[in-house]
Amino acid sequence: MTGPTTMKVEDQIPGIQDTPKPTNGDASPVNWESEIQLVSSLAKLQELERKIHELRHVVPSKLLEPLATLSGQSGPSSITYADSPAHLRDGLDQAARSQVAEIDSFKSTWQGPELKPVWDHVESRIKESNGQILQPTGMWERDYDVLLEELLQAEKSKEQERLHEEEEAERTKVQSSEGGWQVVVESFIQRNVPGVRVIKGQGAPSLAIALSKAGIIFHIEGVKENDGPAVAEWHVSSRAPPGRVPTKMENSITECLNSRSRKWDLAFLLDMISSYADLKQTTCVKCNKLTNNSAQLPTIRRAQSTQPSQQEPRVFAFDALHSSCA
Ligand SMILES: [Zn+2]
Repeated sequence: MTGPTTMKVEDQIPGIQDTPKPTNGDASPVNWESEIQLVSSLAKLQELERKIHELRHVVPSKLLEPLATLSGQSGPSSITYADSPAHLRDGLDQAARSQVAEIDSFKSTWQGPELKPVWDHVESRIKESNGQILQPTGMWERDYDVLLEELLQAEKSKEQERLHEEEEAERTKVQSSEGGWQVVVESFIQRNVPGVRVIKGQGAPSLAIALSKAGIIFHIEGVKENDGPAVAEWHVSSRAPPGRVPTKMENSITECLNSRSRKWDLAFLLDMISSYADLKQTTCVKCNKLTNNSAQLPTIRRAQSTQPSQQEPRVFAFDALHSSCA
């Protein structure tokens, strides 16, 4: 019987969550100029109103439901009918308890910290207009939860576009920098990442990375853009010793490496490969286990989203996951 819960804008839009959370009784500064804030508040009120209509059926129909199902004797076959006065009384007790719980939950939502700033705002607006309130038509003209969803979606695509532009700017900067990809390799070698050895290639943009503890060698090859000097994409293959085919685990890692984002970014790829250095000791961030039910190690890597972009050289961190947990 619970409807869709209204989303908290505070949890979804970066920046808004930076405002202090409302503590008991203290009104926190809410930006009432923000359209998304207003729509989110209206969605909460709309949900409350929907709930009021639902609660109108508590007396008598919900409370007497056990009697109705008893007399009707028709309905979904899953309903078990009371076969004795004691069972009927249990049914009525249960109905009363669950309806009281519904009302209590409604009351606590109404009085809760999430709606407090909304009520405060409504009250202050009524005061500002000397008690004159806009007469509602009695109908909601918009579905505010739908509108909120649209606004959040738009906000998200704007954010994605911003990230994309940022990445494009980075790509241009890296590809036009003097020394190109070799500088990236040199700066990586200087970091002396434990368990990771770089084997430089000759001439063509290529190199190999040996992970000594994991016992895997990856071959990296740069694919050039329209025969220009810049490498458009770095491609990874795992190189098994002669006479041995790559294992299922190696293939799974190579697949994950090649499906990464920032395919132009060698520094990103080197950090991603390094995250496999302690493969046999790295637990999954989701289930916190080393091996899953199929005895597989976490072979999936996901870039952590909070990347400090000002750091030079930029170091990327990755979360390890089982393919079954990803
Ligand atoms: Zn897992």
